Parts: sequence; C-alpha cells; structure tokens
Amino acid sequence: MNVLVVGGAGYIGSHCVRQLLAAGHRPVVLDNLVYGHRAAVPAGVPLHEANAGDEAAVGRVLRDERIELVMHFAAYCYVGESVKDPLKYYFNNEFAALQLLRAMLAAGVKKFVFSSTCATYGTPATLPLVETMPQAPINPYGQTKLDVENALKALAVAHGLSFAAFRYFNAAGAAEDGAIGEDHTPETHLIPLAFDAATGRRPSLEIFGTDYPTPDGTCLRDYVHVDDLSRAHIAVFPRLAAPGAALFYNLGTGRPASNREVVRAVEKVTGRKIKLVEGPRRPGDPPALYADSSKAQRELGWQIKFPDIESIVATAWKWHSAHPGGYGK
Ligand code: UDP
Repeated sequence: MNVLVVGGAGYIGSHCVRQLLAAGHRPVVLDNLVYGHRAAVPAGVPLHEANAGDEAAVGRVLRDERIELVMHFAAYCYVGESVKDPLKYYFNNEFAALQLLRAMLAAGVKKFVFSSTCATYGTPATLPLVETMPQAPINPYGQTKLDVENALKALAVAHGLSFAAFRYFNAAGAAEDGAIGEDHTPETHLIPLAFDAATGRRPSLEIFGTDYPTPDGTCLRDYVHVDDLSRAHIAVFPRLAAPGAALFYNLGTGRPASNREVVRAVEKVTGRKIKLVEGPRRPGDPPALYADSSKAQRELGWQIKFPDIESIVATAWKWHSAHPGGYGK
C-alpha cells in the first residue's frame, strides 16, 4: 500500500517507515522537521516538509502520491509540558489531527492508524489495563489523545472511516542495526537521560518521586520496543479493509519496570554507574501503568520480540553510544 506517515521523521514514525519498507509497502513521509530529523528518513523515501494540519499541503500529497492509508505520529509527547502549556497540546495534538482528518476525507482516503497512549486511562483503578477500562486522563497530553479517539469514532459512523488507535505504553529502544533511534530536543525521557548520566554528559539523573505506593517507591511503567510497536501498525492493515472499522489496542509488554529498575538496567548495559538525585513527584504522573495487550496478540498476531527492559535498553544503547549527540542538525 501507499502509506503516508505523518511525523515519519520522528522517533516512532521513522521506525515504522523502515518496518513498512521491510513489509513491502511504499511509505511517504510528511513532517515539518520541527522535532523530526531528515536523517531518520531512509534514502528513496519521499519526504514532504509540511505541517500535519496544513490541509492544502496534505491534500496535495494524498492525491499526488496516491495515498491509501495514513499513519499519524506527529504529536508532542511530553506529559509535564502538557500540564504547563496545554494550548500547545490542544492545537498540535488535537486541532492539527482534526485538520489532517478533514484533508483525508476531502481526498477520499478512509484508512487511518493513530498513535494514542496509555495516558488516556489516567490513574487506573486496576491493573493491567485492558482496552475497555474507563478513560479519564489526568493531563492535557492524554486528554488531547482521547479527544481524537472520540472524534475518530464519530467519523467512522458518519463517513465510514476505518481506523486503529494504538494506545502505547512507554515506547523505548532503537532499531536493531543501530541506524536510527531516539533523539528528542529537549530530552525528557528516562532512558536517554539515564544514558547521559551514565556517560557523564549530565552530572546526575533525578528520580521524580520515591514515595509512590509501588514496591520500591518509584513509578512503574511498561516499556515497549519501538520496532514491536511498529509491527502492530502494519499487522492491522487487513482489518482496516472493512468500512467503519473502529479498533483500539493497547501495546505494551505487560511487564512493568520501576524507575529504579530502569536505572539498574542502564547501569548493567552500559557498565557505568549513575549518580541518582531523589526529587519530588512530577505533576501528571500516575504511580503505575502497564498493559494487557492480549487483544493485539489475539487479533493481530502481534508478537513481542523484546519482552524485558534489559533487551530494550541494549538496543537503545547501541544507537545512543554511536550517536551521543543524536542525529545532529
Ligand atoms: N522520570 C524520572 N526522571 C527523569 C525523567 C523521567 O524519574 O529525568 C520518570 C517519570 O517521572 C516517569 C518515568 O520516568 O515515572 C517515565 O517517564 P518518561 O518521561 O520517560 O515517559 P512518560 O511515562 O512520561 O511517557
């Protein structure tokens, strides 16, 4: 299929582009390169530099490239920032997504794969999370993703849009060959920051909260390898053939790691010690989040190749140690 990957120069999008190529599809990237990296897009893959919400530009690309399906990864992804600057998230993650969908409907493209998040669940009453549990986000990041999920449901009914919304847990790791990886500016995610503390690029790593009601007092998260995520996005294609398909899947390993466990995995993989600073909780962080992904496994045949934190961290380290400053601009 001809697949438009919106945000295809970003972290998860660029891994998905490579998986699409490996599966024999034709990816086309649309990215404004504000956070994305030209170097993350493989040679030969068309790269259209535009905003996801630029309906005219998106419409042209959809028609010119004969796009059959759109994957949407272009979103801001910082929970803490979304609490401090909600409008940034409402405009980019929600409003631009709606503009993208309007451009798709105008061009008659009715298959959509959406990057959603476990943050749509808020602070869950029970774990692991299954797709039918109540969604009550506790930060604007999660709220904007939930709002788009709800818009998608309405568009499936009104216009026969077929969509899959994948609720990611914590995307982590990098391509096994080390060619692409995670490079956010600013970086706020735990694993890359732990690498920086291990290598001395930063003096220490602050742990946000050590008084959570968890076994070691730090938050529990479900880290899932970016290539495992990407494969699910492609495995869902046959299910989008039916008009009006409205599909929701959790994607996580179901094996949570605490922040301290992540630090230990980074120390083991890098062979270096990390200086820890115990800080206060970060606003917007639930104590524990982990997935029941049996629906994706059952319906999509989704298989997790990297089930544990150490194997995920090892791939991330291969990228990070070869590119300590990221892609460079
Ligand atoms: N975290 C931390 N120190 C940092 C960055 C993150 O303790 O410098 C914690 C954060 O509070 C959360 C976990 O690491 O409990 C994962 O956060 P991250 O930002 O990597 O992903 P998120 O869960 O926000 O998507």
